[in-house]
Formats: sequence, structure tokens, C-alpha cells
Amino acid sequence: MPPRVNPEKCDGCNAQEEPLCEQVCPGDLMTLNESGKAVCRENSDCWDCMSCTKICPVGAIETRMPYQLGYHGAKLIPMVGTNTITWTSIDINKKVERFRFKTRID
Ligand code: SF4
Ligand code: SF4
Repeated sequence: MPPRVNPEKCDGCNAQEEPLCEQVCPGDLMTLNESGKAVCRENSDCWDCMSCTKICPVGAIETRMPYQLGYHGAKLIPMVGTNTITWTSIDINKKVERFRFKTRID
């Protein structure tokens, strides 16, 4: 599912020349709107790689699960650490589960 940006959390990466979500999007889809908030310019071109969701430093981008996986309203939220990534899954009944994986081997 294409990213959903919470405009109350997005700070436009503090007006840096190219916001982080724009830098990492392999399809060059993320951009800032006239209010300085990130948007996906073409939802149908998004291939759900979640790079923008993972890189956002303020957690402003949310991925909604497609109904085939979790029904509308279910969410998957990544938290990237130095050596790990933690995925928080919230289903339609508000049940929360967390899954932590190593991303680097020392
Ligand atoms: S990375 Fe996050 S804070 Fe920065 S512009 Fe994108 S959505 Fe906004
Ligand atoms: S999920 Fe991937 S392809 Fe879609 S807007 Fe974000 S970075 Fe781009």
C-alpha cells in the first residue's frame, strides 16, 4: 500500500534540500507539497518497498496493510536501530505484536 504521511508529524526534514524520504525512494515518488509536507506523487507507481517509511526520522510515514494481509486499518510500523529493525504490527482489533530482526552481523 502506498505510504500515508501524517502532516502533523512530518517536518519536511527541517527544510533540508532533499528530504530523506525523497532521497531513498527508488521510484522518485516522494516530494514535498506546497505546505512543506511529504507526499507520494503517484500512488499507483509505488511498489511498497517501505524505504520511505523506514528512513523517516520522526515516524511520520505509515504503511497500511492491504486487506488481503490484514484488512483495512491494520498497520505495520518499522523502527530502525543500529543493528536491528523492529516491526510493530497492529491488527484491526488493536492487537499489537512486535518482531525484531538483526540487520547486521558483528
Ligand atoms: S522523511 Fe519524514 S519528516 Fe522527512 S520529509 Fe519525509 S515524511 Fe517528512
Ligand atoms: S514505499 Fe518505496 S516506492 Fe513507495 S513511495 Fe515509499 S520509497 Fe517510494
